[in-house]
Parts: sequence; C-alpha cells; structure tokens
Amino acid sequence: MINITLPDGSIREYETGATAIDVAKSISEGLARNVLAAKLNGKVIDAFRPIESDASLQLLTWNDDEGKETMWHSSAHILAEALEELYPGIKLGIGPPIENGFYYDVDAGDTVITEGDLVKIEKKMTELARQKNGFSRREISKAEAIAHYKEKNDEYKLDLLNGLEDGNITFYTQGNFTDLCRGPHIPNTSFIKAIKLLSLAGAYWRGDEKNKQLTRIYGITFPKAKELTAHLELLEEAKKRDHRKLGKELDLFTFSKKVGQGLPLWLPKGAMLRERLENFMKKAQLEAGYLPVITPHIGSKELYVTSGHYAKYGADSFQPITTPNDGEEFLLKPMNCPHHCEIYKSRPRSYKDLPIRFAEFGTVYRYEQSGELHGLTRVRGFTQDDAHLFCRPEQVEDEFKKVIELVLYVFKALKFEEFTAQISLRDKEDKEKYIGSDENWEKAEQAILNSVKGSGLKTVVEYGEAAFYGPKLDFMVKDALGRKWQLGTIQVDYNLPERFELEYVGSDDQRHRPVMIHRAPFGSLERFVAVLIEHCGGNFPLWLTPDQIAILPLSEKYNENCKEVLNLLNKYDIRGFVDDRNEKVGKKIRDAEVSKVPYMLIIGEKEIENGTLAVRKHGEGDIGTMKVEEFSALIKKEIEELV
Ligand SMILES: [Zn+2]
Ligand SMILES: [Zn+2]
Repeated sequence: MINITLPDGSIREYETGATAIDVAKSISEGLARNVLAAKLNGKVIDAFRPIESDASLQLLTWNDDEGKETMWHSSAHILAEALEELYPGIKLGIGPPIENGFYYDVDAGDTVITEGDLVKIEKKMTELARQKNGFSRREISKAEAIAHYKEKNDEYKLDLLNGLEDGNITFYTQGNFTDLCRGPHIPNTSFIKAIKLLSLAGAYWRGDEKNKQLTRIYGITFPKAKELTAHLELLEEAKKRDHRKLGKELDLFTFSKKVGQGLPLWLPKGAMLRERLENFMKKAQLEAGYLPVITPHIGSKELYVTSGHYAKYGADSFQPITTPNDGEEFLLKPMNCPHHCEIYKSRPRSYKDLPIRFAEFGTVYRYEQSGELHGLTRVRGFTQDDAHLFCRPEQVEDEFKKVIELVLYVFKALKFEEFTAQISLRDKEDKEKYIGSDENWEKAEQAILNSVKGSGLKTVVEYGEAAFYGPKLDFMVKDALGRKWQLGTIQVDYNLPERFELEYVGSDDQRHRPVMIHRAPFGSLERFVAVLIEHCGGNFPLWLTPDQIAILPLSEKYNENCKEVLNLLNKYDIRGFVDDRNEKVGKKIRDAEVSKVPYMLIIGEKEIENGTLAVRKHGEGDIGTMKVEEFSALIKKEIEELV
C-alpha cells in the first residue's frame, strides 16, 4: 500500500500502482471525469501513470495552467495524427503547447498546406478525438527509437533524438499515432470537445534561418464548445485592438522600409503621447530621489567587453562600427548599464553618498531576426525607462520597496488593475550557475521577499529563474482581454559592480563593493505603448490621450468662436482641436468617436449666447451643457483620480 498526501494535507491509502484517476475516483466520479493530469511530488505526470510509492499528489483539471497545457499538448498529437492520415509521409518537427493553444511544425514535402485546408484537418481531428482513444506511454531504447524514425525517414525526429540520452526516451501512442515525447498526456482524446485551427506560419527548423522552413500550424482546443466561442470572440476583439492597426488609425507611429525594419518612426501625436509618458515618469523619479543622466548611443567595444555583454550577445547582434583609425571599434548601445557604471566611477564615492540613483531614457539597439519583429513589441531600436541604483547591501530592501511603489503608481495611472509579481530566486543546488557570495544572495533574496510582503501584491516565487548575476522581480500584467504581458522588472546585480570594480569607502574607512539594482517600470516605451494601446483599445487615460477634446462648430459661421474657446481651454491645460471642416455635425461626431477623442464640445448659436458648451462623452453621448470653468474642473478631477 502507498500513502498519498493531497493538497489539503489529508493522507489517503491506496494500492501500490494506483493512478491519479483512481485517487480522483475515490473522491468523486465527477472529479475523475475532469482530471487531465496530476502533479506528483511537484512534477506533472499522466493521470494514468501508476504511482509506486508514498507521494504528494495534486489533481490537475482545466482550471489549472498545467491541466490546460497537458490538454493542448495532447491536441498537438491529435493534429499530427490527423495530418499523417491526410498527408501520408508527412514529416513532423515539434508540437508543443503555448500560452493559448498549441502548434505543430511539419514538412509536407511537395504538398503545400494552405489556410483552406485547415477546416478539413479540423474535421479529421474532431473525428479522431471522438474515438476516445487512450494515450499510452512506453519507455524505449534510443536505438529502437532511431530505427523507428529511420524507417519513417523523418530527419527532424532523428535530429531531436540526437540530443537525447538513452534511458530517458519515451513514446506516446493514441489511436494509430505514435510520437517521440516526454509527455504528459490526458487520459483519452474524448476530453477534447471543441477544436479550432487558427493559422499557418513558416518556421525554420530549430529557429535557425539556415535550416529548412517548415509549416507551423496553430490551433486551440477546449473541453466545452461554448469556451471556444468565447475565445474566438476574444480573438476578434484582440484583432480590433491590435496596436499595429490602432497605431495607424490614431496616427501614432509608422515604419518605413527605407529607414529599416524594426525601427519605429513616431508621428507627432505618438511622439507627444510618448513625451507625456516620459514627463510623467521623470516627475515621479525626481520626487523619488533619482538623478537624471544622459549617455551616447554608442560606446567603445571595450566597454562591452568589460561588462560581458560582448561575449554573451556580440556574435548575434549588430556588429562593431569601425572608424578610419586602426583598431578603433564602437558598438551600438545594447544596454545603458555599462555607461552608468562609468558615471558612478567618475569620482570616489563614500557610504554617505549611497544610494545613488541614475535615471535615463536610454535608447538601445538589439538585432532581432526579421521574422521575430512585430509592431512595437519586438523592434531593433527602443528606449528603456532605465535607471541604475547603486547601494550598500543593507539598503537593498528599502530601495526595492521604493521601486515597487513607483511601479504600482505607474500601473494605477495607466489603469492596469490586475498584475502578479514574479519573484525569481536562485536554485540553491546549482552553485555553478550564479556569481556572488551566498551571503549576499541570501540578503538580496530576503530583501525582495520582505519588500513584497507588505505591498499587498499577488506573488509567485520561481526557484532557479534568477539571472546569473542576481535575483529579480518581474511584473506580469493582465490586460483588459485577460492576456498576460511582462512589463516592469527590477533586478539585483552583483556582477557589474565586480566587473567595473565599483567601490565606495565605508564608515570603517575600507573599500566596499556597492550592489546595483536595474529597474525599468515601463520596460521599453515602445513595448509599453503597444501593450497600453491594446489594453485600453486606444482609449487612453485622459491625462495621456493625444486629443482630449474635439470642438465641433454647428456650422462654419461659428468656427472663429470655437477657436476662441479652444484658446481658453488651452489656458486650462486642456488640449484638442477645432473640427472646422465643411461637414455636417453628425459626421464630425462620428469621426471624433472613431478617433476616440474623449470629449466633444458642440457649439452653436445658443451656446455662444449663453457662454456654454454642449458636452458629449466618447462612448456615452450627451452629458449636458456647462460653462468652460465647469468643464475644465470636470477634466481636472478625472485626471487627478489617476495621477
Ligand atoms: Zn507529446
Ligand atoms: Zn541595466
């Protein structure tokens, strides 16, 4: 017999070799029908795998991330099974689950799979899922696995097998399909009730442009049809909010082939919006004791050899810039940190000077493969709201707390309401992976944990996810459509102070090494604006939005009066424009609604006589007639609630 400890702490006894499904059945039949996988001593396994010794067990259903992952991974196998039936001889690459669904990379040889084929493949998948085929797991020797794929002539699986160790290889089979796979999988295919293949893309084998391009088929599945419907509606909404589409409609940014791929050009409205974001952050930073610095866009190669960035990223990024002088080489700045280290070093520092906080909106350049570029979220040149804090080890906790406060202030001002803080700590077993003394790590990790404790933040702790140079805290934000984005990050660093030999003189008159904190609440302005556009669907918070008002004259003869009103409102720090086109006011209202201007002020004979404004709010309609002073007070109040 074995003892199984459940998440609530209760211990139950089962026959040796019982499965997670057996455990679920002993609790309730309903639960057993919903178990997709299980977590055994922290490791996700098949719910049908026999358990041989005492263990802790968590049953995973659709409500758990790992449950969804298992289902989507299993769906990828069904996709592959359907493809093998429809396209005999097709070769298979990899088929992992992703954040929303799964994909499979395939090589159909001379056959071209098109969007038009997806419905047919979907149908086949549904037919196979309904067969209620169980998944089974088999350990297999490497030689046998190689023989299997040699016979199938699948060079991709053979390539994968190359990197696997004998004794660790498993095959999973459902129906007529067998795949090289670590698992785990759902008990049988009938859990999958709704299937949608979403799109096709080209994908180089192992992500390498030198390799053959395979066809990547994306899909998603659900245990209930109505969940698929809801998901498709969400995708529709996401399409409407796509920042590339809205960026064009709202005149915020553009790209030019001639300027170069991945190099955004900010248009006047976008540039002003970005400037407001910068000013907002600069003001908050000044109040929090940051000091502004400015550094150039390039630095000598030597600088990045010292920092270690050259060794790590040099080969895969922009190559050094040479000059007419022999041996003189510069790099486009991939990070601001080394420049800031040199500013710290520009004079002797005493313990009394610390903490020192250098802030810069620093533009950096990183080479991304052209296939990876995406609107403003993946670009080759971007501006970080960067800052580096140099402090004594005992100051780390305090500094961390203050940075968290700043990040939360930013999120509130931009109406991000749901977020989690992910604390990434080291894996204590893996000594080789990290630099810096155990004592310092202990201190820094404790400092992060302590500073998060009082903040009321939802947190998750991930062991082994720290950077090699220190632990970190990442903010994962959920947008209005429930999608997760990683935004702000705060990182502790022992590495760069070491490499740049940074020092301060302590109260003991001895030289000490400061600790460095890197932080960027926005991350990069480009990415942040992209996420913000999609989060608010282009309806920016009032303080940030390009035009707060559109003044709409009822007819051309009021154009001049309207311009006077605009001048008056400008004095109250309210910005906008007069729509003096020769159009009906109904058309002007519709256009202002489309361009998401928060307030429309309609002015005609009556308003001019009474010195009032007829006010319409975007998405709401008429909100009444008021004097200019009243209206400006309304705007001021709405802004003050956020910033
Ligand atoms: Zn698999
Ligand atoms: Zn940095």
